[in-house]
Amino acid sequence: MQTADFSHCLDTLLIHAGEPRPRMGGALILPVFQSATFAFPDPSGDPALRYIRLNNTPNHEVLHAKLAALEKAEAALVTASGMAAIAAVLLTVLGSGDRILVQQGLYGGTHGLIHQDLARLGISADVVSDDDPADWRRHLQPGTRAFYVETITNPTLRVADLEAVAAFCREHGLVSIIDNTFASPVNFRPLEHGFDLSLHSATKYLNGHSDIVAGAVIGGANLVERVKQRLDHLGASLDPHACFLLHRGLKTLGVRVRQQNSGAEAVARFLSGHPAVARVNYPGLENHPDHPRAKGLFDGYGGMLSFEIDGGAAVAEAFLSHLRLPVVAPSLGGVESLITRPAATSHAGMTPAQRAAMGIGDNLVRMSVGLEAPEDLIADLDQALAGGG
Ligand SMILES: *Cc1c(COP(=O)(O)O)cnc(C)c1O
Repeated sequence: MQTADFSHCLDTLLIHAGEPRPRMGGALILPVFQSATFAFPDPSGDPALRYIRLNNTPNHEVLHAKLAALEKAEAALVTASGMAAIAAVLLTVLGSGDRILVQQGLYGGTHGLIHQDLARLGISADVVSDDDPADWRRHLQPGTRAFYVETITNPTLRVADLEAVAAFCREHGLVSIIDNTFASPVNFRPLEHGFDLSLHSATKYLNGHSDIVAGAVIGGANLVERVKQRLDHLGASLDPHACFLLHRGLKTLGVRVRQQNSGAEAVARFLSGHPAVARVNYPGLENHPDHPRAKGLFDGYGGMLSFEIDGGAAVAEAFLSHLRLPVVAPSLGGVESLITRPAATSHAGMTPAQRAAMGIGDNLVRMSVGLEAPEDLIADLDQALAGGG
């Protein structure tokens, strides 16, 4: 497919990168190619074998080019879910007998994949510090192949020393892998900071409308091609209609995420000044332990925050029940604000002591700030903190 070649500005790339030039049939919007297979050889002279499971229909290819452009990478690949992206990458980079360094407190599905499924295949993980290269060196073994981190951790919004992780991997020949879901390419582009592979749950900010599940792998052409071969065999391709929705959602990523950045910051500052709130975790706040690091790395602090309400589980549950705008639901990154209590949902499988060690009290609430007017969200949080009415 011939595509237009643009540079630099993310907002322009979101709209134009990867789009076929000339437009197919003149259509401004790429139609859904609802076809499992394609005539071979294609009368246009294209000899490629096209098949939905091989992730190479026009709907896939426009996404691959656009996503690669957004994070300044050579290549990208869309997948059936964020977990499909993570599984395909880890099964490409690691084999039986290999080891991986991992950050503490990874996304639950990733934690389960690494510590249960990969463990069964004879792949071991070493949980290491967020920012201590001496600790990383101590855990290095001859079979260590990769290092896996997340840009911003859930639900306490910590930011590891990401540049040190990438540098350590280069020094020791490890593949550096980062889950960039929470930041999105608007706020952080990992390859510019030395990472080899950036992964996304495109279910979240990239699509942004809470209506599909999808994933993405972004990185160098050779590595992404190896991941694609694995994905082709695992069969976790993205359906063309989901490609179409992701394509549509991506075009507004810039305006959405910038609005969510400023909405979340306004909410975080309001909560910080509220007498019924004991603590606010938002990397954009000056008192966040990783604020200086986030300031140096990110173009925006994101739409996610968490906070502790004075009192225990019952007080936090009552607060949730009084809210009118944020929906109590898992997931994040959509236009509707979503809110959860991690001790009762994402982290319910841990013991209270394990949760406490990660800063997850019974009174902690996590919020994905949507696109409602920030003043309306603040008014709603205020009335719910006051016990509803
Ligand atoms: C949601 C999420 C995933 C998993 O993505 P799915 O699209 O649900 O498979 C992985 N990492 C992070 C950080 C997530 O938020």
